[in-house]
Amino acid sequence: MNLHEYQAKELLARYGIPVPPGKVAYTADEAKQIATEYGNTVVIKAQVHTGGRGKAGGVKLAKTPEEAREKASQILGLNIKGFVTRKVLVAKAVDIAKEYYAGLILDRVTQRVVLMLSKEGGVDIEEVAATKPYAIIKHPIDPHKGLRPFEARELIKKAGMEGNLNKLASVLVQLYNAYVGIDASIAEINPLVITPAGDVVAADAKIVLDDNALYRHPDLSTLREVDAEHPLEVEASNYGFSYVKLDGWIGVIGNGAGLVMYTLDLVNRVGGKAANFLDIGGGAKADVVYNALKVVLKDPDVKGVFINIFGGITRADEVAKGVIRAMDEGILTKPVAMRVAGTAEEEAKALLKGRPIYMYPTSIEAAKAIVSMTGGGASAHSTGGAQ
Ligand code: ADP
Ligand code: MG
Repeated sequence: MNLHEYQAKELLARYGIPVPPGKVAYTADEAKQIATEYGNTVVIKAQVHTGGRGKAGGVKLAKTPEEAREKASQILGLNIKGFVTRKVLVAKAVDIAKEYYAGLILDRVTQRVVLMLSKEGGVDIEEVAATKPYAIIKHPIDPHKGLRPFEARELIKKAGMEGNLNKLASVLVQLYNAYVGIDASIAEINPLVITPAGDVVAADAKIVLDDNALYRHPDLSTLREVDAEHPLEVEASNYGFSYVKLDGWIGVIGNGAGLVMYTLDLVNRVGGKAANFLDIGGGAKADVVYNALKVVLKDPDVKGVFINIFGGITRADEVAKGVIRAMDEGILTKPVAMRVAGTAEEEAKALLKGRPIYMYPTSIEAAKAIVSMTGGGASAHSTGGAQ
């Protein structure tokens, strides 16, 4: 679960990490009022679940309350990478001498939480990682010992960060304590600002919580905001589907996460690109398949659907019935390639006989077919909205 910057900062503040004072505004007038209250320069920041807001015009300084109102009205409603800004954080501006990066992620290879530090903060850390990997230092943390202050101080020096060593080290130690305490999967401060006076302040924060551990934090699960998530992901989760929006053009529906992952790989291998991951789970009945198609086909990127079902506790004829209902109701008008095998396979084929649905004996044949039916290869995507 992704948190907004203001929520992430609230959590970091609980662990003693200094953050600039700030409040959330839903309207430009509210932003003006908060700026009046603070009485000095503020920064207006779009609260959306994506990074790179600065570059997209979602972070602006305002010297006066009136300017705060103006900037907030420019940012509210702004679409940043598909996320519409519905609220802004109005925070006191901090004086910046240096912008650093500090992040924690779970590294599956070392099976440790890894601390990443860079003195090249402020900008996209992915860009730094791609162009100057040597500018980021990485350190796996021993889970039994945690991040110890002396360790943090050594790493800060190694990263070439300048500033009050104890203050910097304390932020890192608290960031680690927060990460473990709230069961995060990512916790990042970028920029970690050093002010001209030598203070250390988290000017931006990103936290992703581990959904599987949310049951241990009932207070945190209320931070989930349905309207900030991708609308199709919300709809899919209401139906109980595992759905992830991807950036291709072939809708993929399957039963079982492993089979769906395999199907995504196959589509890629034969020159296609999946528009989504959707797992209908085990034992799905016709209505589940129908709902899955409804979700997938609402995505305007989808030019065709690949349904890959391994019949076990899921009966293939139930799947066929769901597909037929979607066709009869005019929801399913795009090309479909289907591969069903196993329980009630013959019944499914009989039900679909005479329908414009292509059934394939193997996954690879179905993958090739749907790629070619939707224009074939990468060029199909680059021709864009011709559907
Ligand atoms: P994003 O990472 O989404 O672009 P940030 O919060 O990191 O958004 O803001 C981008 C830049 O705006 C920062 O690198 C920093 O230079 C500036 N900035 C952000 N918050 C403040 C603040 N409270 N005071 C002064 N400058 C800020
Ligand atoms: Mg940032």
